[in-house]
Amino acid sequence: MSDHTFNLEQYLEELKPLINLDCGTYTPAGVSKVADIMSEKYQALGWQVSRELFDEKVGPGLLATNKPDAQAYDIMLIGHMDTVFPEGTVAEWSMTTDGEKAYGPGVADMKSGLLNIFRAISELPKDVADRLNICVCMNPDEEIGSIYSGEWLKRVAQKSRYVLVGEAARADGSLVKARKGLAAYKVEFKGKAAHAGNEPEKGISAITELAHWITTLNKENNFATGTTLNFGVVSGGTAGNVVPDYASTELDIRFWNNDDYALLEEKINQLIANPLLSGIEVQLTREAYKPAFTPNEGSEQLMALIEKTGQDMGLDITWQAVGGGSDANLTGALGVPTIDGLGPIGGAMHSRDEFLVLDSIGPRLTLLRNVLINLAETINH
Ligand SMILES: [Zn+2]
Repeated sequence: MSDHTFNLEQYLEELKPLINLDCGTYTPAGVSKVADIMSEKYQALGWQVSRELFDEKVGPGLLATNKPDAQAYDIMLIGHMDTVFPEGTVAEWSMTTDGEKAYGPGVADMKSGLLNIFRAISELPKDVADRLNICVCMNPDEEIGSIYSGEWLKRVAQKSRYVLVGEAARADGSLVKARKGLAAYKVEFKGKAAHAGNEPEKGISAITELAHWITTLNKENNFATGTTLNFGVVSGGTAGNVVPDYASTELDIRFWNNDDYALLEEKINQLIANPLLSGIEVQLTREAYKPAFTPNEGSEQLMALIEKTGQDMGLDITWQAVGGGSDANLTGALGVPTIDGLGPIGGAMHSRDEFLVLDSIGPRLTLLRNVLINLAETINH
């Protein structure tokens, strides 16, 4: 099918109910409504839809498949149903369009991606759909790092040959072939308070230990390899004349190479095992973690297929490696060939300026559909 059958107005009508509904990660009732809408669509195609329950703090996950009895999948598609916007957002900011763009909470991140995945699938020729074992996983908590749905996504990815993530293409149209890993920590230091004048020798300064961490770990910053760390927040102490018994910091680590991160983790554990000041107590909490995903041989083949597919429809495919994480990190780090950015073009995510580029919707939908068709050619059961 070529682009001329794409009806933008119809598409936007279908998109609107997905936007005009508060469905931030911690608004499970709203995410659940998105799940209802998407379930209905896939069920109308004759697909089987099952719900996955994680935690009452977040909505359900949804797995839609054309082969309910399959032990493995050729293609896993991923899209998230949550946004970063809190309850009450839609009342003051709902979907609008002008000649070029659509605006609204989650319009690019990633309701249009969810819809493009569905549309691409529903427009597959029947023989192609029959040949492929496809599953679509829609999760409720990507915006908080998929802390509840991550294991589920990884389980399904391990049974899949390829993973395609429907996050928006970059503002310049690029797809995403790599994403940096990240680890975020809260570190707390407990020492012992003492009068700084009368008996400073009886104190154990939590701030001194914290300073030791900062000077030691900052030496590991490497802008060339992209392994970087940042102490973004520090606090501690009560008064100038008191040896501080408490200090805390937030440490953010980014990396392209998962081995680099493993080394850093070791250094951190060494700091805990061998403190500068004896008697200090350190509590380390890893609050977020995503491994880096970078192309392997399988994903390079997948990239070549996507480039060729684009070429055949006159669409120049470019690639970006980006600093921010997505669910592609989880599946890509398992070694399952993963490509992200297969949604329409959008930008200014997580802000009130979030936008979706209207004339990218049809072509990106066709691209995804044709990629599925071309993948079916390469797969023999
Ligand atoms: Zn997203």
